[in-house]
Amino acid sequence: MNRSPSLVLVAFSWLLWSLFLVRCFCLTLFLCPALLAQGQPKDRVGRLLEELSNAPGPSGFEGPVREIITRELRGAGLEVATDGLGSVIGVLHGSSESPRIMLAAHMDEVGAMVRYVTPEGMVKFQLLGGWLDQALVDQRWTILTSKGPVMAISGLRSVHITPSEERSRVTPRDDVFLDVGVRSKEEAESVGIRPGDAVVPASSFAALPSGRYIGKAMDDRVGCMMLLETLRRLKEQAIKTPNTIYFVGTVQEEVGLRGAHTAAAIVKPDVGISLEAGIAADHPGGKPDWAQERLGAGPVIYLADAAMLVNLRLRDFFQRVAGENNTPLQTEVTTAGAEDSAELQRYGAGKPSVNFAVATRYLHSHNSEIERSDLDQAVNLLMKVLPRLDAKTVAEISRF
Ligand SMILES: [Zn+2]
Repeated sequence: MNRSPSLVLVAFSWLLWSLFLVRCFCLTLFLCPALLAQGQPKDRVGRLLEELSNAPGPSGFEGPVREIITRELRGAGLEVATDGLGSVIGVLHGSSESPRIMLAAHMDEVGAMVRYVTPEGMVKFQLLGGWLDQALVDQRWTILTSKGPVMAISGLRSVHITPSEERSRVTPRDDVFLDVGVRSKEEAESVGIRPGDAVVPASSFAALPSGRYIGKAMDDRVGCMMLLETLRRLKEQAIKTPNTIYFVGTVQEEVGLRGAHTAAAIVKPDVGISLEAGIAADHPGGKPDWAQERLGAGPVIYLADAAMLVNLRLRDFFQRVAGENNTPLQTEVTTAGAEDSAELQRYGAGKPSVNFAVATRYLHSHNSEIERSDLDQAVNLLMKVLPRLDAKTVAEISRF
């Protein structure tokens, strides 16, 4: 008599549980494709690149990136120092003090600086580094103030009030302003905005199912990633190179290679290699007459750009090592761009230098794209190149 109600209760709770489990199963089926569409799970390299890409660090404000690189260099057991401009230098001693090999990846990204605030509370800015005017409007930005980050948007005139003849026109950079949602200059100041504050693109990293990554500041956080991953693998494999390698995160590259200049004065390199984001024009409308690099075709050495011509013996050495190890290696000949290697080449009486890159689409914007396999192949090749740069080989490369 007593057991009948409890049996009904048990049956009822079983029914509820079954319904709950069916619901969970359906939700999982529904959510899985949605989760996949957001990207692939990231391994250690993917996660560190994500951290580097998301870190705010326009020229002159590289602090957050410097912290990551310093942490990783120290974590690998390196002595770490900074120069007078803020570039960070880690030293890996090999079996010989010389030759001194300088690997340089710049920490800064293109951004802007607050110029002044209008009486209405709109923020006007000055650009840091090379931007296209059409990349500036209708974007989210972060202003780094002494009171913390402030979100901003670059305003865009509504289509409804834009005359038809102006609808395909690009807004000139001097007309672009940042709206931080305040009503006056005083209110802008009260949230911490001051002239000289850094402005950085607000955009988050994503791993695409295809094996490609998108995010801001791939120029040059992909170079920073090459730097750190090469160091990690050298340490992990306990490789003792016949040289001393300087792992350098440079500042202010985007405003004129300034950090590479001062860091080289400390390192005194015998060979300079800049690790960079290359220029891929392999998209609709792109032409090899502008740049020849393609995503997914391996790393790139620059033979010529706006600021340097590669040392021919160093070029041959890279191509020989790549060939012997079946590593694909692209070349670039362009009139665009200048990288840290141009500054390293001019150190002292002149040093063999090369710009070594991962092909990158849509540089200097909120969203660049690279392919993971190119990054892996770039590190693979560095792992073959560095142990072969002994005194005899460097003397041979430096000879005329
Ligand atoms: Zn760069």
